[in-house]
Amino acid sequence: KTAEILCVGTELLMGNTVNTNAAAIARGLAEIGLNLYHQTVVGDNPERLREALELALSRADVVITTGGLGPTYDDLTKETIAQVLGRRLVPHEESQRWVAEYFRRIGRTPCPNNQKQAMMPEEAVVFQNHNGTAPGCAVAGAGRWAGKRVVMLPGPPRECEPMLREQVLPYLQAGSDTRLVSRCLYFYGIGESDLAHRLDRLMRESTNPTVAPYCKPGEVMLRVTAQVAEGQSANAILDPVVEEIRREAGEWLYGINVGNLQTALVHLLLAKELTIATAESCTGGLVAQRITSVPGAS
Ligand code: AMP
Ligand code: MG
Repeated sequence: KTAEILCVGTELLMGNTVNTNAAAIARGLAEIGLNLYHQTVVGDNPERLREALELALSRADVVITTGGLGPTYDDLTKETIAQVLGRRLVPHEESQRWVAEYFRRIGRTPCPNNQKQAMMPEEAVVFQNHNGTAPGCAVAGAGRWAGKRVVMLPGPPRECEPMLREQVLPYLQAGSDTRLVSRCLYFYGIGESDLAHRLDRLMRESTNPTVAPYCKPGEVMLRVTAQVAEGQSANAILDPVVEEIRREAGEWLYGINVGNLQTALVHLLLAKELTIATAESCTGGLVAQRITSVPGAS
């Protein structure tokens, strides 16, 4: 199964808004084992949205969109997508109630155009928005797009991310029996090219788990990712490969799933009941700052 992300919003193209929704959705998809090969951004323009959507539908099983579900004239995502999928927009009673209730809760009266947000493609699965007025939805394609699905999420991250976590990922996962499990291995004191050279055969030949390097300032991270089927053990797939990496490059490995060097240091200090003092010149307190940025460091 493959998914694709399509973000809608001229502000994203202009660089006014950083596309954090795409990153949040990509992380969520990785967790549930849906393969992601493309991300696209288009402005608030129905022709280009249609074009991007048709391309995405031609190569992925599920297309996840964000943005353009608002009440204003330039919010056209739902209308355009419903048209491409051959679905009519119909009033969704439950959403009408949610929108009314939301406005009651925040003590304001809804505008007529808020009712536009309660129009849903026929036969959609509707996701309630606990942090705003635009519900999300999942719609199955018909005709030319039979077998494909489009999931629409609101643009504001504080609405999009909870809806994704609480409703959309469980919805998508219900139809799948594999998940992805990763271990991140952190190395210090060895360059990316040296590490990649030592693990060349492993990185090329290993397909489950896959092994991929990420270069970070001053360090290298290796992500080892297993595709785990229902009833299978993630450890049984990951352990042999992690052991092989240890044999080849264990002397530079400072932690697994630790996040970064300062977190590994603080955990080690706590475990050994040691304290640390810094006297810094030139760095202006940078070392102390990194250490104290770790929760529990004081
Ligand atoms: P919209 O639903 O398209 O009207 O978007 C509402 C607001 O959500 C925008 O003004 C942006 O600030 C924010 N937003 C929209 N799309 C994204 C995105 N992909 N990543 C982060 N923020 C976004
Ligand atoms: Mg918008």
